[in-house]
Amino acid sequence: MQIVRTIEEVRDAIGGASPVFLVPTMGYFHEGHLSLIRTAVEDQRSEPQGIVAVSLFVNPTQFNDPKDLEAYPRDVERDAALARQAGCDLLFLPDVEEMYPLDEGGTRILPPRVANRWEGEHRPGHFVGVATIVLKLFHIFFPDIAYFGEKDWQQCRVIANMVRDLDLPVWLKLCPTVREPDGLALSSRNARFSPEARRRAVELYRALLSVADAAAQGREFQQECENAKRRLLQAGFESVDYIAVVEEETLEPASSPGPGLRAIGAATIEGVRLIDNVPIG
Ligand code: AMP
Repeated sequence: MQIVRTIEEVRDAIGGASPVFLVPTMGYFHEGHLSLIRTAVEDQRSEPQGIVAVSLFVNPTQFNDPKDLEAYPRDVERDAALARQAGCDLLFLPDVEEMYPLDEGGTRILPPRVANRWEGEHRPGHFVGVATIVLKLFHIFFPDIAYFGEKDWQQCRVIANMVRDLDLPVWLKLCPTVREPDGLALSSRNARFSPEARRRAVELYRALLSVADAAAQGREFQQECENAKRRLLQAGFESVDYIAVVEEETLEPASSPGPGLRAIGAATIEGVRLIDNVPIG
């Protein structure tokens, strides 16, 4: 595995290799990240001339809270070892100056409407940063296939719509959420929990399952969302940003049970904000 830090080095390293399989990340790898890398490596098997690239960059423009950015866990050496083991060929580790030489005032991407609600509402500017960095990575790597996790469902839709709207020549592969045995979705932020908060954190997933269950049975799910919020607060969450049933393509709130719905939620425990989602039916 080659490790590079500049855009020029990426271009040199890729050379004429094709296809390019790209896994964008912010590091502190867990099985969720590794499942994306392994899926890319699997796709490379039938394309031995191809190259599996992983980018690791804690993107400041997608953090609306400077404290969250500062507290974001990092361990580049461990990540590099895990990426190598998983079969990555090229690891891109840029610093902030490489990705944003202009500091302030550079070009930003206005994300599609699907970014407006939920995470977009609770983390103003978040998807501007996500769309900007993902588009930059697409222009740096020109990937044939890029891999994203369903764990960040709204992010998947934002990127899919951006790819469609801007006619970007890339296929997206959306990979299933990897969970702990109790159901908690793996997240780099889980590293910040005390054992007690870790034990309780799974309640977000359970809450979404109960909402999804109500919706799948055609029951009134609005009330179930309210009950779920109350249960999370009782379980020790400090705040619940949203628990909702949405149309999975548009992220618009669902008005009645039906196909193509997803239960989504975001809540904070011990200062750690978690998001999760489950398909319905
Ligand atoms: P991050 O480093 O958190 O930006 O995540 C990098 C990629 O890994 C994104 O596409 C995430 O959606 C994906 N990812 C994060 N957690 C999980 C998980 N538990 N299961 C599957 N994919 C994940």
